[in-house]
Amino acid sequence: PTGRRPGVDPEFTILVGDSGVGKTSLLVQFDQGKFIPGSFSATVGIGFTNKVVTVDGVKVKLQIWDTAGQERFRSVTHAYYRDAHALLLLYDITSKTSYDNIRAWLTEIHEYAQSDVVIMLLGNKADMSSERAIRRDEGERLAREYSVPFMETSAKTGVNVDLAFTAVSKELKHRS
Ligand code: GDP
Ligand code: MG
Repeated sequence: PTGRRPGVDPEFTILVGDSGVGKTSLLVQFDQGKFIPGSFSATVGIGFTNKVVTVDGVKVKLQIWDTAGQERFRSVTHAYYRDAHALLLLYDITSKTSYDNIRAWLTEIHEYAQSDVVIMLLGNKADMSSERAIRRDEGERLAREYSVPFMETSAKTGVNVDLAFTAVSKELKHRS
């Protein structure tokens, strides 16, 4: 948007994906470095969390919005997409449905978000390997198809959580 000051104004970053994939848990892990078991679905989101990520000595301010109760298609307010600088799109590696729905999420994102929005695909719950329904290479293939970076994360163990937000911050820094 006009008048934005890179490094001063926060970068609007939004977590999207089906209900139950671990959006809130991922944000709590990134923000507080802990995993609180049990679903957050009863709560109507936590609004946003401000975090500063340092990339090559430069501070990137993230204002991370957790969508809740907006997890059905066509229900994330279009203004959210329009104002987003970055979108972390999550599926759950134990849920084929959440993986299959990624295409619909991306269709919606491409319809409403800015064309230069930073997108990252995350296969969350990587710790649940015994219940895995989606192989890593299936995540990689989908990401390649849409030309977006991909990582498997675990909000429970914290694996790749900081890395995912750092990668997004790096991309935002390059684009600002
Ligand atoms: P949201 O609806 O996308 O915000 O998902 P939640 O953060 O509420 O998580 C849904 C459920 O999955 C909860 O029971 C979480 O404890 C669990 N969960 C979330 N992330 C992980 C993860 O990385 N590993 C495991 N094992 N459970 C997770
Ligand atoms: Mg949630």
